[in-house]
Amino acid sequence: MSQPSEQTQHSATICNIAPASDPATLQVAVKILTAGGLVAIPTETVYGLGAAINNKNAVSQIFAVKGRPQDHPLIVHIAELKQLQDVAVNISDDALKLAGSCWPGPLTILLQRSNQVSNDITGGRETVAVRLPDNVFTRQLITLLGSPIAAPSANRFGKVSPTTAQHVCDDLQSDVDLIVDDGACSIGVESTIVDFSVSPPQLLRPGGILVEDIEQILGYQIKRSDGISRASGMLQSHYRPTCQVRLVETEAEASRLLKTLEPQLMPARILNRCENLPLYASLLYNDLRQADTDQIRTLIAVLPVNTGLGAAITDRLSKAAAPLQGLPAS
Ligand code: AMP
Ligand code: MG
Repeated sequence: MSQPSEQTQHSATICNIAPASDPATLQVAVKILTAGGLVAIPTETVYGLGAAINNKNAVSQIFAVKGRPQDHPLIVHIAELKQLQDVAVNISDDALKLAGSCWPGPLTILLQRSNQVSNDITGGRETVAVRLPDNVFTRQLITLLGSPIAAPSANRFGKVSPTTAQHVCDDLQSDVDLIVDDGACSIGVESTIVDFSVSPPQLLRPGGILVEDIEQILGYQIKRSDGISRASGMLQSHYRPTCQVRLVETEAEASRLLKTLEPQLMPARILNRCENLPLYASLLYNDLRQADTDQIRTLIAVLPVNTGLGAAITDRLSKAAAPLQGLPAS
């Protein structure tokens, strides 16, 4: 579809990876999206698999490439706050206030959709999830394209999210037309999702913006998730590596479990970055992937406190450890 700026050979597969720092990459990415292709875009949370929202074929290609069920809606990414009114209607003052304080950043808000957002993107829902990411390249891309970009994480459905361009290449190979490499994602876990289509607003997924900070900005407590699975990031089993993930509360417990596994010659490893939660989050998906690369059978993960960023890490680790339930093998 386009001339690759650089090609990376990996596992006998050619990926079209281009550095975000190369000015030509922006033009190439716009061309691909305009022609209905898919571009893996960098964000501060995870890499996204992007399509122009007004291109029906490209949007349906996202679902095909990911193996994602059609009823799992996509997040719509915008480049500036004023674009919010293009994709959403009946935006409450509180939603605007929160977006104004947290954007650009790892916050997604759920609002009533405008008629610019199709059923294919929202899985037939009347709501749209919107985010303004903190990545200069991706915002420039949206602006130059002249359209918001719909993007879920750039991995196969149910698997571990990508936080580097190489992760995307490992997962999607040439199923994505271009991968824009802007280094490792700084936050490393997905956005916090707050549903403003209900009153009071409700937390749908803990993530990069702390719930405590959201409540401080709004000046009241938001409703916590009621456990009803409304989309992929809320399924019980998700973000799964191939190895088994076992959750423990303390390092001592992890060591005891490791000792019971070693005599059985089951390669096992402890994951514990509780001392530094931003680092735990930013390296989490890389750590899960590395365990598979190293053919670890059991990854023993020490759970952080279930508040602040620890809530997002606990959520992802719990889903990585959950037994497969109603998920297609992917
Ligand atoms: P991801 O797979 O990380 O892109 O996650 C997308 C998440 O956005 C899902 O887990 C949903 O919770 C949420 N979401 C996106 N769009 C909608 C929508 N229209 N209605 C409800 N939830 C949505
Ligand atoms: Mg995902």
